[in-house]
Amino acid sequence: MVAVWVGAATALAFAVAGREKGPIPEETVLAAEKLREQAQRGGRADEWVRRLTDEVGPRLTGSAGDQLAGPWSASLMKSLGFTNVRLEPVRARSWMRLKESAEVIAPSRQPLVLTALGGSVSTPEGGIEAPVVAVPSLAALGELVANDPEYCRGKIVFFNQRMTRGREEMSGYGTSVPVRLHGAARAARAGAAAVLIRSIGTSNNRYAHTGQLRYENEASKIPAAALSNPDADLLERLVAGSHPVRVRLEIQTRSLEEVETANVVGEIPGRGAPEEIVVLSGHIDSWDLGTGAIDDGAGCALAIESARLIGEMPRKPLRTLRVVLFANEENGLAGGTEYAKRHASEIARHVAAIEADSGTGRPVGIGWNGGASGRPIMRALSELLVPLSAQKTFEGGYGGADLSPLGPTDLPLFGLRQDVSTYFDFHHTANDTFDKIEPVALRKATAALAVWAYVMADLPAPFPRGRLEKKQGEK
Ligand SMILES: [Zn+2]
Repeated sequence: MVAVWVGAATALAFAVAGREKGPIPEETVLAAEKLREQAQRGGRADEWVRRLTDEVGPRLTGSAGDQLAGPWSASLMKSLGFTNVRLEPVRARSWMRLKESAEVIAPSRQPLVLTALGGSVSTPEGGIEAPVVAVPSLAALGELVANDPEYCRGKIVFFNQRMTRGREEMSGYGTSVPVRLHGAARAARAGAAAVLIRSIGTSNNRYAHTGQLRYENEASKIPAAALSNPDADLLERLVAGSHPVRVRLEIQTRSLEEVETANVVGEIPGRGAPEEIVVLSGHIDSWDLGTGAIDDGAGCALAIESARLIGEMPRKPLRTLRVVLFANEENGLAGGTEYAKRHASEIARHVAAIEADSGTGRPVGIGWNGGASGRPIMRALSELLVPLSAQKTFEGGYGGADLSPLGPTDLPLFGLRQDVSTYFDFHHTANDTFDKIEPVALRKATAALAVWAYVMADLPAPFPRGRLEKKQGEK
């Protein structure tokens, strides 16, 4: 053990000597390295997710869990020594699923596993029964309807687009999610009675993935639901056969005009420039089906735990760390929008913001968007993340959905990037539960987030502001 320690210390000394002239001061590097080890040894993010999912449960905007989540998170942050802990009220629309079922009526008769998409309207009482037409994509819908304006009329349109699995890339999600967002509105314009989509998810288990849809004012609102992948496979085979396929679908939902929820805020004050703020964030709301362990209990826990670890350091960073747990990310983004509005006058005193909203996987790097002259800092930061194998940097984007309302400002925005190999097996399903949390990977992710936060809050001058041009061909 002693030999190992001496080896590590020697390697550390060389590493520090090599970085002395870099953009991150030596004392900051040493503190960040210590933090990195402590997070991996004693990180407690998994404990915060366990408690959130067990003691609060699902947290869809307006639900009992959502109402409890604010005070619960505030009291956790207070107990961990955060200051200025508060709830900032957010008005948001809420929606609730009451009943959902479907079955194939012809050519065989069997139940389908599905779940209503967030925001879906109800079917008439007793449901609807209609013939099914399969459409491979949104683009294909346009062509089919151009050839035959009656193609969808009175039918259940089945969007059968398959999501591809990624490891360090979210692009599979990015390319398939427009079907969930816009499928119902597009099919409604073509006269469809209802929409079924293949789940935007990679699991071959029989779980359906929910998620928000977007109706359009000029199109009528038709009910929409996602089939589990095995049920979408069944429907795909049936539709490919020679017999007409009919499905009965019943969905009952309720939309409430507006409810009050809250962003939860807590701080670790800086030692030298406490008025300057580094935001660490996740979103506290979740879908209703599971308990929101990976989406985004994990991200909230990462933000809280990395700030807590920094708060325990003998040498606090110069600036204040502000943990923000956003409300209503899943079905409205009212929390992120409200934060940008309420804090507009102090964005000049914000120096950086990051969001963790990619689950429980090991960290792979940091996405960022700021001034191009920040590249040398990102390179030096990336070196500090090498021992975590999290040294990749991804240029462009807006850090995370909740930070996107800050996109029009020049505030540098960051996103913690994690391995998402299995994330979309559980995302937005009843299977997003605490057992999916990977404690070792989560501790590594805590370490990466803590190193990022310490460096951003302790740089002699704030990270350069501005926006990078997106690289060509990048999503
Ligand atoms: Zn999320």
